[in-house]
Amino acid sequence: MVTALAAASEVVDPELPFVTIAELGILRAVEERDGRVTVTITPTYTGCPAVSAIRDDVRSALATAGFPDVAVETRLNPPWTTEWISEDGRRKLADAGIAPPQRRPLLTISVRCPRCGSPETEELSRFGSTACTSLWRCRACAEPFPRVKER
Ligand SMILES: [Zn+2]
Repeated sequence: MVTALAAASEVVDPELPFVTIAELGILRAVEERDGRVTVTITPTYTGCPAVSAIRDDVRSALATAGFPDVAVETRLNPPWTTEWISEDGRRKLADAGIAPPQRRPLLTISVRCPRCGSPETEELSRFGSTACTSLWRCRACAEPFPRVKER
């Protein structure tokens, strides 16, 4: 028997399908009362089009696990922060070539290239392949790479 929390935790991010919404810190709460499951999510990015996909995925994952009565609530306060990404989430982002957000953005000046580790990087575009990433380039190996936007 899979718990509602376990089922919801397995749902992957539609735009970054190698990390779960739990690892990204999107999944905030799973509460079960009188057979009804209420799942609270905080989207990673305002207007991120992934929200409705996450909502549908959570509902179907819970239905499969035996919880047909599911309400998915979106909580915008407090806003999502990159601090909520778990260690596993950070490692998976790095493995996929996406620079994990720094834990302390205010204290970190450079973004390191996920391929060669060089701090000589520059932002090419605020808008990467998804709404939640921006496009960066490494000056050392000239490779472009996506990066999850800071909040
Ligand atoms: Zn590089």
